[in-house]
Amino acid sequence: TGPEPLLELSGVRSAYGAIEVLHGVDLVLHPGSVVALLGPNGGGKTTALKVCSGLQPVTAGEFRLAGRVVNGADASQLARLGVCSIPEGRGVFPNLTVRENLWVATGTGHSLDELESAAYQRFPRLGERRSQLAGSMSGGEQQMLALSRALGTAPTVLLLDELSMGLAPRVVTEMYDIVGQLAAEGLSILVAEQFARAVLPIATSAALMLQGRVVRSGDPQEIDRELSTSYLGG
Ligand code: ATP
Repeated sequence: TGPEPLLELSGVRSAYGAIEVLHGVDLVLHPGSVVALLGPNGGGKTTALKVCSGLQPVTAGEFRLAGRVVNGADASQLARLGVCSIPEGRGVFPNLTVRENLWVATGTGHSLDELESAAYQRFPRLGERRSQLAGSMSGGEQQMLALSRALGTAPTVLLLDELSMGLAPRVVTEMYDIVGQLAAEGLSILVAEQFARAVLPIATSAALMLQGRVVRSGDPQEIDRELSTSYLGG
Protein backbone atom coordinates (compact mmCIF):
# COMPACT_ATOMS: atom_id res chain seq x y z
CA THR A 1 0.00 0.00 0.00
CA GLY A 2 1.10 3.62 0.36
CA PRO A 3 1.20 6.14 -2.44
CA GLU A 4 1.23 5.02 -6.05
CA PRO A 5 4.74 4.53 -7.48
CA LEU A 6 5.90 7.32 -9.75
CA LEU A 7 8.11 5.03 -11.81
CA GLU A 8 7.86 1.28 -12.00
CA LEU A 9 9.57 -1.47 -13.97
CA SER A 10 7.83 -4.87 -13.90
CA GLY A 11 9.53 -7.85 -15.50
CA VAL A 12 11.37 -5.57 -17.88
CA ARG A 13 13.59 -7.20 -20.47
CA SER A 14 15.94 -5.36 -22.75
CA ALA A 15 18.60 -6.32 -25.29
CA TYR A 16 21.49 -4.91 -27.28
CA GLY A 17 20.82 -6.44 -30.67
CA ALA A 18 20.34 -10.16 -30.13
CA ILE A 19 21.92 -10.13 -26.67
CA GLU A 20 19.45 -9.76 -23.82
CA VAL A 21 21.03 -8.01 -20.82
CA LEU A 22 17.97 -7.27 -18.65
CA HIS A 23 16.14 -10.49 -17.88
CA GLY A 24 13.05 -9.29 -16.06
CA VAL A 25 13.84 -6.29 -13.87
CA ASP A 26 11.45 -5.16 -11.12
CA LEU A 27 11.96 -1.71 -9.66
CA VAL A 28 9.73 0.79 -7.84
CA LEU A 29 10.38 4.49 -7.28
CA HIS A 30 7.97 6.36 -5.00
CA PRO A 31 7.52 10.14 -5.05
CA GLY A 32 10.18 11.96 -3.05
CA SER A 33 12.32 8.89 -2.53
CA VAL A 34 15.86 7.92 -3.41
CA VAL A 35 16.35 4.38 -4.72
CA ALA A 36 19.96 3.22 -4.85
CA LEU A 37 20.65 0.74 -7.62
CA LEU A 38 23.69 -1.21 -6.47
CA GLY A 39 25.86 -4.01 -7.75
CA PRO A 40 29.06 -4.76 -9.61
CA ASN A 41 30.10 -3.70 -13.06
CA GLY A 42 28.08 -5.19 -15.87
CA GLY A 43 25.07 -6.12 -13.74
CA GLY A 44 22.82 -3.93 -15.85
CA LYS A 45 22.45 -0.75 -13.78
CA THR A 46 23.25 1.58 -16.65
CA THR A 47 20.97 -0.31 -19.00
CA ALA A 48 18.12 -0.11 -16.50
CA LEU A 49 18.62 3.67 -16.28
CA LYS A 50 18.67 3.89 -20.08
CA VAL A 51 15.33 2.10 -20.18
CA CYS A 52 13.96 4.65 -17.71
CA SER A 53 15.14 7.55 -19.86
CA GLY A 54 13.89 6.06 -23.13
CA LEU A 55 17.32 5.42 -24.61
CA GLN A 56 16.99 1.65 -24.52
CA PRO A 57 13.89 -0.26 -25.71
CA VAL A 58 11.77 -2.52 -23.52
CA THR A 59 11.35 -5.87 -25.23
CA ALA A 60 9.06 -7.40 -22.60
CA GLY A 61 7.44 -6.42 -19.33
CA GLU A 62 6.08 -3.02 -18.36
CA PHE A 63 7.59 0.40 -17.75
CA ARG A 64 5.07 2.66 -16.01
CA LEU A 65 5.23 6.34 -15.21
CA ALA A 66 2.59 7.70 -12.83
CA GLY A 67 0.55 4.58 -13.50
CA ARG A 68 0.66 4.87 -17.27
CA VAL A 69 2.49 2.32 -19.45
CA VAL A 70 5.22 4.13 -21.42
CA ASN A 71 7.02 1.16 -22.96
CA GLY A 72 7.45 2.67 -26.40
CA ALA A 73 8.11 6.28 -25.38
CA ASP A 74 11.38 7.79 -26.59
CA ALA A 75 13.76 10.03 -24.68
CA SER A 76 12.14 13.32 -25.69
CA GLN A 77 8.65 12.10 -24.79
CA LEU A 78 9.87 10.88 -21.39
CA ALA A 79 11.69 14.18 -20.87
CA ARG A 80 8.40 16.00 -21.43
CA LEU A 81 6.81 13.68 -18.86
CA GLY A 82 9.41 14.89 -16.36
CA VAL A 83 12.17 12.28 -16.58
CA CYS A 84 15.65 13.76 -16.62
CA SER A 85 18.90 11.84 -16.62
CA ILE A 86 22.49 12.73 -15.89
CA PRO A 87 24.61 10.13 -17.65
CA GLU A 88 27.84 8.60 -16.46
CA GLY A 89 30.49 11.23 -17.20
CA ARG A 90 27.96 14.05 -16.57
CA GLY A 91 27.39 15.18 -20.13
CA VAL A 92 28.46 18.80 -19.70
CA PHE A 93 29.98 20.51 -22.73
CA PRO A 94 33.66 20.97 -21.84
CA ASN A 95 34.28 23.75 -24.38
CA LEU A 96 31.33 25.83 -23.25
CA THR A 97 31.30 28.05 -20.18
CA VAL A 98 29.08 27.46 -17.17
CA ARG A 99 26.58 30.06 -18.49
CA GLU A 100 26.57 28.53 -21.95
CA ASN A 101 25.99 25.08 -20.52
CA LEU A 102 22.98 26.41 -18.60
CA TRP A 103 21.77 28.16 -21.72
CA VAL A 104 21.40 24.71 -23.30
CA ALA A 105 18.55 24.03 -20.86
CA THR A 106 16.63 27.20 -21.78
CA GLY A 107 14.79 25.31 -24.50
CA THR A 108 12.55 24.00 -21.73
CA GLY A 109 10.84 27.33 -21.10
CA HIS A 110 13.04 28.96 -18.47
CA SER A 111 15.08 32.03 -19.23
CA LEU A 112 18.85 31.99 -18.81
CA ASP A 113 18.48 34.49 -15.94
CA GLU A 114 16.14 32.13 -14.10
CA LEU A 115 18.39 29.12 -14.65
CA GLU A 116 21.48 31.03 -13.56
CA SER A 117 19.99 32.45 -10.41
CA ALA A 118 18.63 29.05 -9.37
CA ALA A 119 21.98 27.37 -10.11
CA TYR A 120 24.12 29.98 -8.33
CA GLN A 121 21.84 30.06 -5.34
CA ARG A 122 22.19 26.31 -4.89
CA PHE A 123 25.87 26.22 -5.84
CA PRO A 124 27.59 29.57 -5.15
CA ARG A 125 30.83 28.11 -6.50
CA LEU A 126 29.24 27.87 -9.96
CA GLY A 127 28.41 31.55 -9.82
CA GLU A 128 32.04 32.41 -9.22
CA ARG A 129 32.92 30.35 -12.29
CA ARG A 130 30.12 31.42 -14.60
CA SER A 131 32.49 32.45 -17.40
CA GLN A 132 34.87 29.54 -16.99
CA LEU A 133 34.98 26.64 -19.47
CA ALA A 134 33.26 23.61 -17.96
CA GLY A 135 36.10 21.33 -19.02
CA SER A 136 38.55 23.29 -16.89
CA MET A 137 36.57 22.86 -13.67
CA SER A 138 36.92 20.11 -11.06
CA GLY A 139 34.83 16.96 -11.31
CA GLY A 140 32.64 18.10 -8.43
CA GLU A 141 31.98 21.48 -10.04
CA GLN A 142 31.09 19.77 -13.32
CA GLN A 143 28.69 17.52 -11.44
CA MET A 144 27.10 20.63 -9.85
CA LEU A 145 26.71 22.08 -13.33
CA ALA A 146 25.17 18.88 -14.68
CA LEU A 147 22.73 18.84 -11.75
CA SER A 148 21.86 22.52 -12.23
CA ARG A 149 21.17 22.00 -15.90
CA ALA A 150 19.02 18.96 -15.15
CA LEU A 151 17.05 20.85 -12.49
CA GLY A 152 16.46 23.62 -15.00
CA THR A 153 14.10 21.30 -16.84
CA ALA A 154 11.98 21.01 -13.65
CA PRO A 155 12.00 17.19 -13.64
CA THR A 156 9.89 14.94 -11.43
CA VAL A 157 12.22 11.97 -11.83
CA LEU A 158 15.99 12.30 -11.79
CA LEU A 159 18.20 9.45 -13.01
CA LEU A 160 21.82 9.52 -11.89
CA ASP A 161 24.58 7.20 -13.05
CA GLU A 162 27.74 6.80 -10.96
CA LEU A 163 27.67 10.24 -9.43
CA SER A 164 30.80 9.39 -7.44
CA MET A 165 32.94 8.59 -10.45
CA GLY A 166 36.26 10.43 -10.39
CA LEU A 167 35.32 12.53 -7.36
CA ALA A 168 37.19 12.85 -4.09
CA PRO A 169 35.33 11.15 -1.19
CA ARG A 170 34.57 14.51 0.45
CA VAL A 171 33.02 15.79 -2.76
CA VAL A 172 30.99 12.58 -3.17
CA THR A 173 29.53 13.15 0.29
CA GLU A 174 28.76 16.77 -0.58
CA MET A 175 27.02 15.75 -3.83
CA TYR A 176 24.91 13.07 -2.15
CA ASP A 177 23.91 15.53 0.58
CA ILE A 178 22.50 17.67 -2.21
CA VAL A 179 20.74 14.69 -3.77
CA GLY A 180 19.16 14.02 -0.38
CA GLN A 181 17.95 17.65 -0.21
CA LEU A 182 16.43 17.37 -3.68
CA ALA A 183 14.47 14.32 -2.59
CA ALA A 184 13.31 16.20 0.51
CA GLU A 185 12.06 18.91 -1.88
CA GLY A 186 9.92 16.24 -3.58
CA LEU A 187 12.05 15.01 -6.45
CA SER A 188 12.14 11.23 -7.03
CA ILE A 189 15.63 9.94 -7.67
CA LEU A 190 17.00 6.68 -9.02
CA VAL A 191 20.75 6.44 -8.65
CA ALA A 192 23.04 3.71 -9.95
CA GLU A 193 26.14 3.53 -7.84
CA GLN A 194 28.95 1.01 -7.49
CA PHE A 195 30.25 2.82 -4.44
CA ALA A 196 27.38 1.79 -2.18
CA ARG A 197 28.65 3.51 0.97
CA ALA A 198 28.33 6.90 -0.72
CA VAL A 199 24.63 6.72 -1.43
CA LEU A 200 23.25 4.55 1.38
CA PRO A 201 23.02 7.35 3.97
CA ILE A 202 20.45 9.17 1.84
CA ALA A 203 18.75 6.17 0.18
CA THR A 204 15.11 5.41 0.98
CA SER A 205 15.56 1.90 -0.39
CA ALA A 206 18.16 -0.08 -2.26
CA ALA A 207 18.05 -2.66 -5.03
CA LEU A 208 20.90 -5.02 -5.78
CA MET A 209 21.38 -5.83 -9.46
CA LEU A 210 23.28 -8.89 -10.63
CA GLN A 211 23.44 -10.28 -14.13
CA GLY A 212 20.47 -8.38 -15.45
CA ARG A 213 18.12 -8.92 -12.54
CA VAL A 214 17.25 -7.18 -9.28
CA VAL A 215 18.11 -9.98 -6.89
CA ARG A 216 17.38 -8.17 -3.61
CA SER A 217 15.64 -4.97 -2.69
CA GLY A 218 14.54 -3.22 0.45
CA ASP A 219 16.05 -1.49 3.44
CA PRO A 220 19.37 0.18 2.46
CA GLN A 221 21.13 -0.76 5.71
CA GLU A 222 20.17 -4.42 5.31
CA ILE A 223 21.32 -4.51 1.70
CA ASP A 224 24.54 -2.82 2.78
CA ARG A 225 25.12 -5.47 5.47
CA GLU A 226 24.64 -8.19 2.86
CA LEU A 227 26.98 -6.44 0.46
CA SER A 228 29.71 -6.04 3.07
CA THR A 229 29.51 -9.68 4.22
CA SER A 230 29.72 -11.02 0.67
CA TYR A 231 32.41 -10.85 -1.99
CA LEU A 232 30.36 -8.07 -3.59
CA GLY A 233 31.57 -5.65 -0.93
CA GLY A 234 34.71 -5.16 -2.99
P1 ATP B 1 28.67 -0.29 -15.42
O1 ATP B 1 28.80 0.20 -14.05
O2 ATP B 1 29.94 -0.77 -16.03
O3 ATP B 1 27.94 0.65 -16.34
P2 ATP B 1 26.26 -1.73 -15.27
O4 ATP B 1 25.83 -2.52 -14.09
O5 ATP B 1 25.71 -0.40 -15.43
O6 ATP B 1 27.81 -1.63 -15.29
P3 ATP B 1 25.50 -2.20 -17.99
O7 ATP B 1 26.41 -1.14 -18.47
O8 ATP B 1 24.07 -1.95 -17.99
O9 ATP B 1 25.95 -2.64 -16.52
O10 ATP B 1 25.82 -3.51 -18.80
C1 ATP B 1 25.04 -4.71 -18.69
C2 ATP B 1 25.51 -5.70 -19.76
O11 ATP B 1 25.21 -5.19 -21.05
C3 ATP B 1 27.00 -5.96 -19.73
O12 ATP B 1 27.21 -7.34 -19.97
C4 ATP B 1 27.52 -5.14 -20.89
O13 ATP B 1 28.65 -5.75 -21.45
C5 ATP B 1 26.37 -5.14 -21.86
N1 ATP B 1 26.31 -3.90 -22.67
C6 ATP B 1 26.26 -2.63 -22.21
N2 ATP B 1 26.18 -1.74 -23.22
C7 ATP B 1 26.19 -2.45 -24.36
C8 ATP B 1 26.13 -2.13 -25.73
N3 ATP B 1 26.02 -0.86 -26.15
N4 ATP B 1 26.17 -3.15 -26.62
C9 ATP B 1 26.25 -4.43 -26.21
N5 ATP B 1 26.29 -4.81 -24.94
C10 ATP B 1 26.27 -3.84 -24.00
